Amino acid sequence: MQGSYYDASAHLREDFPRLAGVRQADVCIVGGGYTGLIAALELRLAGFTVTLLEARRIGFGASGRNGGQIATGYSPGMCETADIVGAAAAKQLWDLSVEASAMLRAVIRRHDIDCDLQPGEFYAAIKPRHRDWLHREQEYCERAFGYTQYRWWDTEDFRAQVVSDRFCGALYDEAGGHLHPLNYLLGLGRAAKAAGVEIFEHSEVLNLREGTRPVAETAEGRVTADFVILAGNAYLGNLQAKLAAKFIPVDAYIIATEPLGQMRARAIMNTDACVSDMNYNLDYFRLSADTRLLYGGRDKVIGHRAPREALRANMVATFPGLADVAVDYVWGGKVAITRNLLPDVGRIGANIYYAQGYSGQGVPLSAIVGRLLAEAISGQAARFDVFARIPHKAFPGGTMLRRPLLSLARLYYELRDAL
Ligand SMILES: Cc1cc2nc3c(=O)[nH]c(=O)nc-3n(C[C@H](O)[C@H](O)[C@H](O)COP(=O)(O)OP(=O)(O)OC[C@H]3O[C@@H](n4cnc5c(N)ncnc54)[C@H](O)[C@@H]3O)c2cc1C
Repeated sequence: MQGSYYDASAHLREDFPRLAGVRQADVCIVGGGYTGLIAALELRLAGFTVTLLEARRIGFGASGRNGGQIATGYSPGMCETADIVGAAAAKQLWDLSVEASAMLRAVIRRHDIDCDLQPGEFYAAIKPRHRDWLHREQEYCERAFGYTQYRWWDTEDFRAQVVSDRFCGALYDEAGGHLHPLNYLLGLGRAAKAAGVEIFEHSEVLNLREGTRPVAETAEGRVTADFVILAGNAYLGNLQAKLAAKFIPVDAYIIATEPLGQMRARAIMNTDACVSDMNYNLDYFRLSADTRLLYGGRDKVIGHRAPREALRANMVATFPGLADVAVDYVWGGKVAITRNLLPDVGRIGANIYYAQGYSGQGVPLSAIVGRLLAEAISGQAARFDVFARIPHKAFPGGTMLRRPLLSLARLYYELRDAL
Protein backbone atom coordinates (compact mmCIF):
# COMPACT_ATOMS: atom_id res chain seq x y z
CA MET A 1 0.00 0.00 0.00
CA GLN A 2 1.19 3.54 -0.72
CA GLY A 3 1.02 6.53 1.62
CA SER A 4 0.98 6.88 5.34
CA TYR A 5 -0.63 4.64 7.93
CA TYR A 6 -1.81 7.83 9.62
CA ASP A 7 -3.72 9.00 6.53
CA ALA A 8 -5.32 5.56 6.27
CA SER A 9 -6.40 5.60 9.94
CA ALA A 10 -7.25 9.33 10.24
CA HIS A 11 -10.55 10.55 11.63
CA LEU A 12 -12.81 12.48 9.31
CA ARG A 13 -10.94 15.46 7.90
CA GLU A 14 -12.54 18.83 7.51
CA ASP A 15 -11.79 20.96 4.44
CA PHE A 16 -10.86 24.59 5.04
CA PRO A 17 -11.27 27.26 2.32
CA ARG A 18 -8.55 28.92 0.24
CA LEU A 19 -7.73 32.53 1.15
CA ALA A 20 -9.20 34.97 -1.39
CA GLY A 21 -9.21 38.75 -0.97
CA VAL A 22 -8.00 40.98 1.80
CA ARG A 23 -8.30 40.29 5.55
CA GLN A 24 -7.22 41.81 8.85
CA ALA A 25 -6.33 39.97 12.06
CA ASP A 26 -4.48 40.65 15.28
CA VAL A 27 -2.19 37.71 14.50
CA CYS A 28 -1.49 35.91 11.22
CA ILE A 29 0.07 32.46 11.58
CA VAL A 30 1.97 30.85 8.70
CA GLY A 31 1.82 27.05 8.95
CA GLY A 32 -0.82 24.57 10.09
CA GLY A 33 1.25 22.12 12.13
CA TYR A 34 1.22 21.70 15.93
CA THR A 35 3.12 24.96 16.54
CA GLY A 36 0.75 27.06 14.45
CA LEU A 37 -2.43 25.46 15.76
CA ILE A 38 -1.46 25.50 19.45
CA ALA A 39 -0.30 29.12 19.20
CA ALA A 40 -3.63 29.92 17.48
CA LEU A 41 -5.64 28.23 20.25
CA GLU A 42 -3.69 29.94 23.02
CA LEU A 43 -3.99 33.33 21.31
CA ARG A 44 -7.77 32.92 20.98
CA LEU A 45 -7.93 32.10 24.71
CA ALA A 46 -6.12 35.40 25.31
CA GLY A 47 -8.69 37.24 23.17
CA PHE A 48 -6.76 37.84 19.91
CA THR A 49 -8.29 37.43 16.45
CA VAL A 50 -6.23 34.87 14.52
CA THR A 51 -5.93 33.91 10.84
CA LEU A 52 -3.89 30.80 10.03
CA LEU A 53 -2.59 30.18 6.50
CA GLU A 54 -1.50 26.67 5.47
CA ALA A 55 0.23 26.05 2.13
CA ARG A 56 -1.27 22.58 1.59
CA ARG A 57 -3.61 21.00 4.16
CA ILE A 58 -3.21 21.26 7.92
CA GLY A 59 -0.91 18.45 9.06
CA PHE A 60 0.84 18.29 5.67
CA GLY A 61 4.22 18.91 7.35
CA ALA A 62 6.00 16.90 10.03
CA SER A 63 3.01 17.11 12.38
CA GLY A 64 0.97 14.72 10.22
CA ARG A 65 3.81 12.28 9.58
CA ASN A 66 5.96 11.84 12.69
CA GLY A 67 6.67 8.95 15.05
CA GLY A 68 4.23 10.32 17.63
CA GLN A 69 6.74 9.77 20.44
CA ILE A 70 6.63 12.13 23.41
CA ALA A 71 9.97 12.61 25.15
CA THR A 72 10.86 14.80 28.13
CA GLY A 73 13.83 17.12 27.68
CA TYR A 74 15.80 18.03 24.56
CA SER A 75 17.64 16.17 21.80
CA PRO A 76 21.23 16.75 22.99
CA GLY A 77 20.38 15.41 26.46
CA MET A 78 20.34 17.61 29.57
CA CYS A 79 24.06 17.37 30.47
CA GLU A 80 24.98 18.74 27.05
CA THR A 81 22.12 21.26 27.12
CA ALA A 82 23.60 22.62 30.37
CA ASP A 83 27.00 22.90 28.65
CA ILE A 84 25.39 24.95 25.86
CA VAL A 85 23.12 27.28 27.85
CA GLY A 86 24.44 27.09 31.43
CA ALA A 87 22.99 25.23 34.41
CA ALA A 88 20.36 27.83 35.37
CA ALA A 89 18.90 28.10 31.84
CA ALA A 90 19.01 24.29 31.50
CA LYS A 91 16.81 24.04 34.63
CA GLN A 92 14.32 26.53 33.12
CA LEU A 93 14.30 24.63 29.83
CA TRP A 94 13.81 21.35 31.65
CA ASP A 95 10.84 22.71 33.60
CA LEU A 96 9.31 23.97 30.34
CA SER A 97 9.72 20.53 28.74
CA VAL A 98 7.98 18.88 31.73
CA GLU A 99 5.20 21.46 31.36
CA ALA A 100 5.07 20.65 27.62
CA SER A 101 4.24 16.95 28.22
CA ALA A 102 1.63 17.83 30.83
CA MET A 103 0.14 20.53 28.60
CA LEU A 104 -0.09 18.15 25.64
CA ARG A 105 -2.15 15.76 27.76
CA ALA A 106 -4.30 18.59 29.12
CA VAL A 107 -5.03 19.86 25.59
CA ILE A 108 -6.02 16.36 24.47
CA ARG A 109 -8.35 16.02 27.48
CA ARG A 110 -9.84 19.51 27.23
CA HIS A 111 -10.69 19.16 23.55
CA ASP A 112 -11.58 15.49 23.81
CA ILE A 113 -9.11 14.49 21.06
CA ASP A 114 -9.20 10.79 20.22
CA CYS A 115 -5.54 10.05 19.33
CA ASP A 116 -4.53 6.74 20.98
CA LEU A 117 -2.45 8.43 23.72
CA GLN A 118 -0.31 5.92 25.66
CA PRO A 119 2.15 6.55 28.52
CA GLY A 120 5.84 5.64 28.74
CA GLU A 121 9.00 5.76 26.68
CA PHE A 122 12.12 3.57 26.85
CA TYR A 123 15.53 4.88 25.77
CA ALA A 124 17.29 1.65 24.87
CA ALA A 125 21.07 1.17 25.06
CA ILE A 126 22.74 -0.82 22.28
CA LYS A 127 26.28 -0.40 23.60
CA PRO A 128 27.90 0.02 27.02
CA ARG A 129 28.67 3.68 26.21
CA HIS A 130 24.92 4.27 25.64
CA ARG A 131 24.26 2.75 29.06
CA ASP A 132 26.85 5.03 30.68
CA TRP A 133 25.34 8.07 28.93
CA LEU A 134 21.82 7.17 30.11
CA HIS A 135 23.00 6.61 33.70
CA ARG A 136 24.65 10.05 33.63
CA GLU A 137 21.47 11.67 32.32
CA GLN A 138 19.30 9.97 34.96
CA GLU A 139 21.67 11.01 37.74
CA TYR A 140 21.93 14.61 36.43
CA CYS A 141 18.16 15.08 36.03
CA GLU A 142 17.55 13.75 39.53
CA ARG A 143 20.26 15.89 41.14
CA ALA A 144 19.78 19.11 39.15
CA PHE A 145 16.01 19.07 38.59
CA GLY A 146 14.65 16.66 41.23
CA TYR A 147 13.24 14.49 38.42
CA THR A 148 12.19 11.08 39.72
CA GLN A 149 10.22 9.67 36.79
CA TYR A 150 13.22 7.96 35.17
CA ARG A 151 13.71 4.31 36.09
CA TRP A 152 16.57 2.05 34.96
CA TRP A 153 15.79 -1.41 33.51
CA ASP A 154 18.63 -3.94 33.37
CA THR A 155 19.18 -6.07 30.27
CA GLU A 156 17.11 -9.06 31.33
CA ASP A 157 14.22 -7.04 32.79
CA PHE A 158 14.05 -4.89 29.66
CA ARG A 159 14.21 -7.99 27.44
CA ALA A 160 11.06 -9.23 29.14
CA GLN A 161 9.38 -6.02 27.93
CA VAL A 162 10.96 -5.65 24.50
CA VAL A 163 11.90 -9.10 23.31
CA SER A 164 15.12 -8.38 21.40
CA ASP A 165 18.79 -9.31 21.85
CA ARG A 166 19.92 -5.89 20.56
CA PHE A 167 19.67 -3.99 23.82
CA CYS A 168 21.69 -3.92 27.03
CA GLY A 169 19.27 -2.09 29.29
CA ALA A 170 17.01 0.93 29.01
CA LEU A 171 15.97 4.10 30.81
CA TYR A 172 12.19 4.35 31.21
CA ASP A 173 10.45 7.72 31.36
CA GLU A 174 7.03 7.56 32.96
CA ALA A 175 6.16 11.02 31.58
CA GLY A 176 7.00 9.99 28.01
CA GLY A 177 4.53 8.29 25.72
CA HIS A 178 3.11 8.29 22.22
CA LEU A 179 0.03 9.17 20.19
CA HIS A 180 -1.47 9.07 16.70
CA PRO A 181 0.15 12.27 15.37
CA LEU A 182 -2.32 13.06 12.60
CA ASN A 183 -5.42 12.49 14.72
CA TYR A 184 -3.92 14.72 17.40
CA LEU A 185 -3.30 17.38 14.72
CA LEU A 186 -6.80 17.09 13.26
CA GLY A 187 -8.23 17.40 16.78
CA LEU A 188 -6.22 20.61 17.26
CA GLY A 189 -7.63 21.87 13.95
CA ARG A 190 -11.20 21.20 15.08
CA ALA A 191 -10.56 22.86 18.45
CA ALA A 192 -8.97 25.91 16.79
CA LYS A 193 -11.90 26.32 14.43
CA ALA A 194 -14.38 25.97 17.31
CA ALA A 195 -12.42 28.62 19.24
CA GLY A 196 -12.84 31.04 16.33
CA VAL A 197 -9.52 30.73 14.50
CA GLU A 198 -9.92 31.43 10.76
CA ILE A 199 -8.08 28.62 8.94
CA PHE A 200 -7.25 28.70 5.23
CA GLU A 201 -5.73 25.73 3.38
CA HIS A 202 -4.03 25.72 -0.06
CA SER A 203 -2.93 29.25 0.85
CA GLU A 204 0.84 29.38 0.68
CA VAL A 205 2.40 32.62 1.86
CA LEU A 206 4.58 33.64 -1.07
CA ASN A 207 5.77 36.95 0.31
CA LEU A 208 5.93 38.58 3.73
CA ARG A 209 6.02 42.37 3.75
CA GLU A 210 7.59 43.56 6.99
CA GLY A 211 6.56 46.85 8.61
CA THR A 212 4.51 48.27 11.47
CA ARG A 213 1.67 45.99 10.30
CA PRO A 214 3.22 43.08 8.38
CA VAL A 215 1.36 41.66 5.36
CA ALA A 216 1.33 37.96 4.40
CA GLU A 217 0.61 37.57 0.69
CA THR A 218 -0.74 34.46 -1.04
CA ALA A 219 -1.54 33.95 -4.75
CA GLU A 220 -5.13 35.14 -4.29
CA GLY A 221 -5.20 37.22 -1.13
CA ARG A 222 -3.38 38.86 1.73
CA VAL A 223 -3.64 39.19 5.51
CA THR A 224 -2.56 42.34 7.34
CA ALA A 225 -1.88 41.76 11.04
CA ASP A 226 -0.27 43.32 14.11
CA PHE A 227 1.86 40.20 14.53
CA VAL A 228 2.98 37.30 12.33
CA ILE A 229 4.12 33.89 13.54
CA LEU A 230 6.25 31.85 11.13
CA ALA A 231 5.53 28.21 11.99
CA GLY A 232 6.54 26.56 8.70
CA ASN A 233 9.49 24.72 10.25
CA ALA A 234 11.35 22.47 7.74
CA TYR A 235 8.66 23.24 5.14
CA LEU A 236 9.00 27.05 5.22
CA GLY A 237 11.40 27.08 2.24
CA ASN A 238 13.05 30.39 1.56
CA LEU A 239 10.29 32.69 2.80
CA GLN A 240 12.89 33.89 5.37
CA ALA A 241 16.33 32.80 4.14
CA LYS A 242 17.96 33.70 7.50
CA LEU A 243 15.72 31.18 9.28
CA ALA A 244 16.28 28.44 6.70
CA ALA A 245 20.06 28.67 7.14
CA LYS A 246 19.81 27.72 10.84
CA PHE A 247 18.62 24.13 10.38
CA ILE A 248 19.11 21.17 8.08
CA PRO A 249 15.93 19.45 6.80
CA VAL A 250 16.68 15.75 7.36
CA ASP A 251 14.55 13.13 5.61
CA ALA A 252 13.11 10.63 8.06
CA TYR A 253 10.98 7.58 7.28
CA ILE A 254 8.62 5.20 9.06
CA ILE A 255 7.19 1.82 8.09
CA ALA A 256 4.04 0.17 9.45
CA THR A 257 3.69 -3.60 9.32
CA GLU A 258 0.47 -5.43 8.71
CA PRO A 259 -1.57 -5.86 11.96
CA LEU A 260 0.29 -8.48 14.03
CA GLY A 261 -2.62 -9.51 16.22
CA GLN A 262 -2.39 -9.43 20.03
CA MET A 263 -0.48 -12.73 20.40
CA ARG A 264 2.28 -11.90 17.94
CA ALA A 265 2.48 -8.26 19.01
CA ARG A 266 2.90 -9.26 22.66
CA ALA A 267 5.54 -11.82 21.69
CA ILE A 268 7.83 -8.94 20.65
CA MET A 269 6.61 -6.10 22.88
CA ASN A 270 5.11 -6.81 26.24
CA THR A 271 4.59 -3.09 26.81
CA ASP A 272 2.50 -0.25 25.39
CA ALA A 273 5.39 2.19 25.82
CA CYS A 274 7.43 3.35 22.83
CA VAL A 275 11.16 2.79 22.34
CA SER A 276 14.03 4.88 20.92
CA ASP A 277 17.52 3.51 20.62
CA MET A 278 20.54 5.62 21.52
CA ASN A 279 22.33 5.78 18.15
CA TYR A 280 22.85 9.21 16.56
CA ASN A 281 20.97 7.91 13.50
CA LEU A 282 18.40 6.46 15.84
CA ASP A 283 15.66 3.87 15.30
CA TYR A 284 12.36 4.16 17.19
CA PHE A 285 9.34 1.92 17.33
CA ARG A 286 6.03 1.18 19.00
CA LEU A 287 2.81 -0.73 18.55
CA SER A 288 -0.16 1.06 17.01
CA ALA A 289 -3.67 0.77 18.42
CA ASP A 290 -4.40 -1.92 15.80
CA THR A 291 -1.25 -3.96 16.67
CA ARG A 292 0.99 -2.90 13.79
CA LEU A 293 4.65 -2.30 14.53
CA LEU A 294 5.53 1.27 13.54
CA TYR A 295 9.29 1.41 12.99
CA GLY A 296 11.09 4.66 12.14
CA GLY A 297 14.60 5.87 11.50
CA ARG A 298 16.61 8.65 9.98
CA ASP A 299 17.98 8.48 6.47
CA LYS A 300 21.29 6.62 6.34
CA VAL A 301 24.17 7.13 3.92
CA ILE A 302 26.26 3.97 4.12
CA GLY A 303 24.81 1.18 1.96
CA HIS A 304 21.97 3.53 1.00
CA ARG A 305 18.80 1.61 0.23
CA ALA A 306 15.21 2.56 -0.38
CA PRO A 307 13.56 3.49 2.96
CA ARG A 308 11.21 0.47 2.91
CA GLU A 309 14.09 -2.03 2.57
CA ALA A 310 16.43 -0.16 4.93
CA LEU A 311 13.86 0.11 7.73
CA ARG A 312 12.62 -3.41 7.20
CA ALA A 313 16.19 -4.69 7.56
CA ASN A 314 16.60 -2.68 10.81
CA MET A 315 13.27 -3.96 12.12
CA VAL A 316 14.23 -7.59 11.40
CA ALA A 317 17.64 -7.03 13.04
CA THR A 318 15.74 -5.92 16.16
CA PHE A 319 12.99 -8.55 15.92
CA PRO A 320 14.18 -11.52 13.78
CA GLY A 321 10.78 -13.15 14.29
CA LEU A 322 9.20 -10.51 12.02
CA ALA A 323 11.12 -11.59 8.89
CA ASP A 324 7.94 -12.88 7.24
CA VAL A 325 5.73 -9.94 8.17
CA ALA A 326 4.37 -7.69 5.41
CA VAL A 327 5.08 -3.95 5.44
CA ASP A 328 1.81 -2.23 4.56
CA TYR A 329 2.91 1.42 4.60
CA VAL A 330 6.04 3.51 4.21
CA TRP A 331 6.17 7.29 4.38
CA GLY A 332 8.55 10.09 5.21
CA GLY A 333 8.88 13.71 6.16
CA LYS A 334 11.38 16.42 6.98
CA VAL A 335 12.79 16.93 10.47
CA ALA A 336 14.40 20.34 11.10
CA ILE A 337 17.71 19.77 12.90
CA THR A 338 19.67 22.72 14.31
CA ARG A 339 23.44 22.71 14.87
CA ASN A 340 23.15 22.34 18.65
CA LEU A 341 19.96 20.19 18.48
CA LEU A 342 18.00 22.75 20.53
CA PRO A 343 14.86 24.54 19.25
CA ASP A 344 15.31 27.82 17.39
CA VAL A 345 12.66 30.23 18.66
CA GLY A 346 12.73 34.03 18.41
CA ARG A 347 11.67 37.32 16.82
CA ILE A 348 12.49 39.19 13.65
CA GLY A 349 12.04 42.83 14.55
CA ALA A 350 9.21 43.70 16.93
CA ASN A 351 6.26 41.91 15.37
CA ILE A 352 7.38 38.74 13.56
CA TYR A 353 7.88 35.64 15.69
CA TYR A 354 9.13 32.21 14.65
CA ALA A 355 9.67 28.69 15.99
CA GLN A 356 11.50 25.86 14.24
CA GLY A 357 14.20 23.22 14.60
CA TYR A 358 12.84 21.07 17.43
CA SER A 359 15.38 18.48 16.23
CA GLY A 360 13.09 15.46 16.60
CA GLN A 361 11.25 16.49 19.80
CA GLY A 362 8.53 18.72 18.37
CA VAL A 363 5.52 16.63 19.41
CA PRO A 364 5.68 17.81 23.04
CA LEU A 365 7.85 20.94 22.59
CA SER A 366 5.51 22.54 20.03
CA ALA A 367 2.83 22.62 22.75
CA ILE A 368 4.85 24.74 25.16
CA VAL A 369 6.37 26.85 22.38
CA GLY A 370 2.88 27.55 21.01
CA ARG A 371 1.87 28.73 24.50
CA LEU A 372 4.99 30.88 24.90
CA LEU A 373 4.45 32.52 21.50
CA ALA A 374 0.99 33.55 22.73
CA GLU A 375 2.41 34.75 26.05
CA ALA A 376 5.05 36.87 24.27
CA ILE A 377 2.51 38.45 21.92
CA SER A 378 0.36 39.19 24.98
CA GLY A 379 3.31 41.12 26.45
CA GLN A 380 4.61 38.43 28.85
CA ALA A 381 7.88 37.42 27.20
CA ALA A 382 9.93 36.17 30.19
CA ARG A 383 9.37 32.45 29.50
CA PHE A 384 9.53 32.90 25.71
CA ASP A 385 12.94 34.51 26.17
CA VAL A 386 14.28 31.38 27.89
CA PHE A 387 14.01 29.77 24.43
CA ALA A 388 14.88 32.94 22.50
CA ARG A 389 18.22 33.24 24.37
CA ILE A 390 19.45 29.79 23.26
CA PRO A 391 22.49 30.56 21.05
CA HIS A 392 22.17 29.39 17.44
CA LYS A 393 24.53 29.56 14.49
CA ALA A 394 23.67 29.36 10.81
CA PHE A 395 25.13 26.47 8.83
CA PRO A 396 28.20 27.68 6.93
CA GLY A 397 27.28 28.56 3.34
CA GLY A 398 23.60 29.07 4.28
CA THR A 399 21.01 26.99 2.47
CA MET A 400 23.34 26.45 -0.55
CA LEU A 401 25.68 24.12 1.35
CA ARG A 402 23.07 22.39 3.48
CA ARG A 403 22.84 19.30 1.23
CA PRO A 404 26.56 18.41 1.10
CA LEU A 405 26.92 19.27 4.80
CA LEU A 406 23.99 17.02 5.62
CA SER A 407 25.62 14.08 3.80
CA LEU A 408 28.88 14.69 5.62
CA ALA A 409 27.16 14.98 9.00
CA ARG A 410 25.17 11.77 8.42
CA LEU A 411 28.30 9.94 7.37
CA TYR A 412 30.11 11.19 10.47
CA TYR A 413 27.29 10.06 12.79
CA GLU A 414 26.95 6.69 11.07
CA LEU A 415 30.66 6.09 11.58
CA ARG A 416 30.31 7.06 15.27
CA ASP A 417 27.33 4.70 15.62
CA ALA A 418 29.44 1.91 14.12
CA LEU A 419 32.17 2.29 16.78
C1 LIG B 1 9.21 11.10 10.06
C2 LIG B 1 9.26 12.01 11.27
C3 LIG B 1 9.27 11.46 12.54
C4 LIG B 1 9.25 12.30 13.67
N1 LIG B 1 9.13 11.72 14.89
C5 LIG B 1 8.97 12.51 15.97
C6 LIG B 1 8.66 11.93 17.24
O1 LIG B 1 8.48 10.71 17.36
N2 LIG B 1 8.57 12.75 18.32
C7 LIG B 1 8.73 14.11 18.21
O2 LIG B 1 8.64 14.80 19.23
N3 LIG B 1 8.97 14.69 17.01
C8 LIG B 1 9.07 13.93 15.89
N4 LIG B 1 9.26 14.51 14.68
C9 LIG B 1 9.35 15.99 14.60
C10 LIG B 1 7.96 16.64 14.75
O3 LIG B 1 7.06 16.03 13.88
C11 LIG B 1 8.08 18.14 14.44
O4 LIG B 1 9.04 18.72 15.29
C12 LIG B 1 6.77 18.88 14.64
O5 LIG B 1 5.71 18.24 13.99
C13 LIG B 1 6.93 20.31 14.11
O6 LIG B 1 5.67 20.92 14.08
P1 LIG B 1 5.52 22.34 13.40
O7 LIG B 1 4.12 22.73 13.53
O8 LIG B 1 6.53 23.26 13.95
O9 LIG B 1 5.91 22.11 11.85
P2 LIG B 1 5.19 21.25 10.72
O10 LIG B 1 4.33 20.21 11.28
O11 LIG B 1 6.25 20.80 9.78
O12 LIG B 1 4.21 22.28 10.03
C14 LIG B 1 4.66 23.32 9.20
C15 LIG B 1 3.52 23.65 8.24
O13 LIG B 1 3.79 24.90 7.64
C16 LIG B 1 3.31 24.86 6.31
N5 LIG B 1 4.01 25.92 5.56
C17 LIG B 1 5.33 26.00 5.31
N6 LIG B 1 5.60 27.12 4.58
C18 LIG B 1 4.41 27.75 4.41
C19 LIG B 1 4.04 28.94 3.74
N7 LIG B 1 4.94 29.71 3.11
N8 LIG B 1 2.74 29.31 3.74
C20 LIG B 1 1.80 28.57 4.40
N9 LIG B 1 2.11 27.40 5.05
C21 LIG B 1 3.40 27.01 5.04
C22 LIG B 1 3.64 23.46 5.84
O14 LIG B 1 2.86 23.05 4.74
C23 LIG B 1 3.36 22.65 7.09
O15 LIG B 1 2.06 22.10 7.12
C24 LIG B 1 9.31 13.71 13.52
C25 LIG B 1 9.31 14.27 12.24
C26 LIG B 1 9.27 13.45 11.12
C27 LIG B 1 9.25 14.06 9.75
